[in-house]
Amino acid sequence: MFIAVVNWDKCTGCGDCVDACPVKCFEMSDGKSLAQRAVYCIDCGNCPEVCPADAIGIAVGWGGLATRR
Ligand code: SF4
Ligand code: SF4
Repeated sequence: MFIAVVNWDKCTGCGDCVDACPVKCFEMSDGKSLAQRAVYCIDCGNCPEVCPADAIGIAVGWGGLATRR
């Protein structure tokens, strides 16, 4: 189980993660990326790669107990 997590303090609202995610985890809300469907994440690696603000982490397991990136 992978879960995408966005740090809103870092997110600049560029929208790149919305376009990059093959399973549509993200949508924009109030100028920030919201990982609305974070649990759909398949750990493809696209969003941490494209995010210019280093604002996205992929947690492994429920509750983000072990963050890999
Ligand atoms: S790692 Fe891939 S599947 Fe997971 S949220 Fe990012 S772009 Fe989507
Ligand atoms: S790619 Fe990064 S900075 Fe851009 S909207 Fe997504 S989380 Fe925010």
